[in-house]
This record gives sequence, C-alpha cells and structure tokens, in this order.
Amino acid sequence: MITFNKRDDIAPICPHCKKEITNILYQELKGDLGKRCIYFCPNCKASLGLSHRKGLTFGW
Ligand SMILES: [Zn+2]
Repeated sequence: MITFNKRDDIAPICPHCKKEITNILYQELKGDLGKRCIYFCPNCKASLGLSHRKGLTFGW
C-alpha cells in the first residue's frame, strides 16, 4: 500500500536536471482544445507537464 504524506520542508527534484524545484514556470497554450498551460523547470526548461482544462494533471 502506498500512502500520501504532505511535506513542505523538502522540494521536488526535476527529473531532467536533478535540481530542486522551488518554483515552476508556465506558459499558456491556446488551441482547438481550449486553453492549457505547460509547466517547465526554471533551471533546465524541461517540460514537467501540461494542465488540462480543469485542474492540474502532471501525467505524461
Ligand atoms: Zn530541470
């Protein structure tokens, strides 16, 4: 079983550059599917995920 633990004292690590992510950059994308945002690492500019129309989905 996997459980969730809220942790504010550690920062996530970017899967691409392995640096801690302390803020996330994003750009808005507009197209036929509506408005979405792409999120990316401020260190290496690698994409971390796309938002869908409602809520965030950091799935690939
Ligand atoms: Zn990175």
